[in-house]
Amino acid sequence: MKLNNLADRRQLGTTSKVPKWAVAYKYPPEEKTARILDIEVSVGRTGRITPTAVFEPVRLCGTMVSRATLHNQDFIDQLDVGIGDYVKVYKSGEIIPKIREVVKEQRDSSVQRFHLPEFCPVCGTKTVREKDTADMKCPSPNCPSQVERRIINFVSRDAMDIKGFGTVYIEELVRRGFINTIADIFVLKEHRTQMIEEGIIGKEKNTDKLLDAIEGAKQRDACQLLTGFGIPNVGKAAAKAVMKQFGTIEKLADAGMEQLMEVPDIGEVSARCIRNFFKDVSNQEMIRRLEAEGVNMTHIRQEGDSDRLAGMTFVITGTLPNMERKQAAQLIEQNGGKVSGSVSKKTTYLLAGENAGSKLTKAQTLGVDVIDEERLLEMIRN
Ligand SMILES: [Zn+2]
Repeated sequence: MKLNNLADRRQLGTTSKVPKWAVAYKYPPEEKTARILDIEVSVGRTGRITPTAVFEPVRLCGTMVSRATLHNQDFIDQLDVGIGDYVKVYKSGEIIPKIREVVKEQRDSSVQRFHLPEFCPVCGTKTVREKDTADMKCPSPNCPSQVERRIINFVSRDAMDIKGFGTVYIEELVRRGFINTIADIFVLKEHRTQMIEEGIIGKEKNTDKLLDAIEGAKQRDACQLLTGFGIPNVGKAAAKAVMKQFGTIEKLADAGMEQLMEVPDIGEVSARCIRNFFKDVSNQEMIRRLEAEGVNMTHIRQEGDSDRLAGMTFVITGTLPNMERKQAAQLIEQNGGKVSGSVSKKTTYLLAGENAGSKLTKAQTLGVDVIDEERLLEMIRN
């Protein structure tokens, strides 16, 4: 809420951090009571087993919702929630449905307590509790649900970007045993006739289109391949930084903890995840097969790339005189810098254009250096 009268605004003034003439007001989140009909469990890419509450549909902030995550067994125990319970549901940030609490007064004797299954609901392998976390995992690397999620990540736009490889096809190919690992994607062509006969991707035309897209993906940059491996804590930005440093998947596979941690923005956790991934024998075999199929394992240094901004984190705000914010972000990343959405103590520079707002104020408060477009271009040139 803001004061309308400009003279009043001037009179009230600002503190070093905030204007005194404006205040944020949040409506209390809308809340509804709903009965839990079931608790479903699903298995993610890394084998994590996640329980989801399914409740009677209720209208919240304009849409109908009927599901909310229950995270893990500890969360379920803390909430003390069972199937048949009435719960208070709200939308966090007006977007994500969440359960606030159980309405104990409405609980009856039919309520069933819930425990995460001892065996994976998809493949039947005995589940294990992960060290230091509350997560239960299916430890089998061949679990179909995990294979599906891994393939979905591999073909996604940030990774190998294989167009037309929809989730439905992936599920079907995994279910029918055509795909068990990432490497199997590149030998699908050997099953072309059978795939057409069984109509998995449609008829000839559709099947060939997908097989062509798969062939084309072999030339993708190795940072996309690395993103596609879906190593925990190694997303698109980290994969880029890592490949810039090591150049090839082979060199990366040989890198030790210390070498890995020298890469900007790679901490101990990510480094360990990378080490564990390349130590795994089935992953080594998968990579050998990818190589044999002619999948590119090298990071192609693009023209204009440098590491002049390595180790620096930028936040961009306002309207820049000559480029879109997106272009500026690309330029920073090409030169080894990182772009973040919010200003913190870790921010190296705030790149500010016209009409910069709260981010500029925050940068000034935290003592973050503020630069303009021209200065950024100078930094890249020199
Ligand atoms: Zn499983």
